[in-house]
Amino acid sequence: MDNKKVISLLIPAYNEEKSLPRLYEALCGLMEGELSAKYDFEVLFINDGSRDRTLDVLRELRGRDQRINFVNLSRNFGKENAMLAGFDYVNGDCTVILDADLQDPIEVIPEMVKWWEEGYEDVYGKRATRGKESWLRKEFSLSFYSILQSSTRFDVLPNVGDFRLLDRRCILALRSLRESQRYTKGLFCWIGFKKKEVTFNRADREEGKSSFNFLGLFNLAVEGITSFTTTPLRIASVMGLIIALVAFIYMIVIFTKTIIWGDSVQGFPATMCVILFLGGIQLVCIGIIGEYIGRIFMESKNRPVYFIDTYNDIKQ
Ligand code: UDP
Ligand code: MG
Repeated sequence: MDNKKVISLLIPAYNEEKSLPRLYEALCGLMEGELSAKYDFEVLFINDGSRDRTLDVLRELRGRDQRINFVNLSRNFGKENAMLAGFDYVNGDCTVILDADLQDPIEVIPEMVKWWEEGYEDVYGKRATRGKESWLRKEFSLSFYSILQSSTRFDVLPNVGDFRLLDRRCILALRSLRESQRYTKGLFCWIGFKKKEVTFNRADREEGKSSFNFLGLFNLAVEGITSFTTTPLRIASVMGLIIALVAFIYMIVIFTKTIIWGDSVQGFPATMCVILFLGGIQLVCIGIIGEYIGRIFMESKNRPVYFIDTYNDIKQ
C-alpha cells in the first residue's frame, strides 16, 4: 500500500555520535509501533557540521535502514539554520521536529499525530518540567518570554521549544521565511495556523553536553526580541521624552529661583551625576539602535541561510 500518509521526523544533530544509536533504537520502536499500520516514516537528520563521527554513524544507519536520510551541511550553521535546511528537505505530510539527544520524549508523538488527524496543524510540546538546568537559566528564560509576550501581537508560548508536529502547510509557510537571523520558536508562533498543546516532561540530556551556554542563550534572547518587536526603540524614545521634560521643569525652577532670590548656581556633584546618568542612558539607547542596525546589515546582505554539502552522500 503506498497511499499511506508519511510522517517525517526532522532531527538536527551536532556532535551527537553517542546519542544516535540509542535514538535510532527509540525511533525504531516508534516506527514499528501502533502508528506503523497507518503511516510510513521518513527520518531526516541534518548533520550540522559535527566534528565527531556523527556523519559516519548516519551513513552506517542509512546502510541498514533506508528510511533514514541525512543532509550534511557544509559547516556548523547552528540549530536554527539547520532546521530551515530540514524544512527544505522533508517530504512528509507532517513533520515532527525533535532533538537528537533524546530529551524530547518519543512516546508523545502518537498523541501528537492523533491531534493532527483531528485537524490541528501545529501540535506543540509544552514542557511540564524543564529537566535538569540551573535556576538562573530557568528564571532568565521565563522573564524573556514575558517581555516578548507583552510586546508582540501574536501569542508567544512559554516553555515551548522546537519539539512539535507541523502539518505540511506550516512547513511550506516556514520555508518561505528566509531571514538569516532566525528565531524559529518565534516563527512557529508568527505563522499562526491551528495550534494544539501537548504537555510532556523534558528528560535530562543523557550523552554529550548541551551546546548552549548562558551567553548563547542571552544572544538568542536578544535575537528573539529584536526580530519580532521594535518596542525597545519605543522605550528609548519615551525615556528620552520623559527625561527631557523633567529637565525642562527643573530648568524653570532654577531660573525662577535665581531671578527671585538670586540663588547662586551650585553643585558640582549634582552636575556630574546628571551628566553620567544621561551619558549612560544615551549609550544604552545607541546600543539598542545598534542592535537593529546590525540586523538590517545582516539581512541586507541577503545571503543564503546554509549551504548543503551532501544529501544521502550525493553532492548537491
Ligand atoms: N544542534 C545543532 N546545531 C548546533 C547546536 C545544536 O543542530 O549548532 C542540535 C543538537 O544536536 C540537538 C539540538 O540541536 O539535537 C538541541 O541542542 P542541545 O541539546 O545542545 O540544546 P538544549 O537541549 O540544551 O536546548
Ligand atoms: Mg538538549
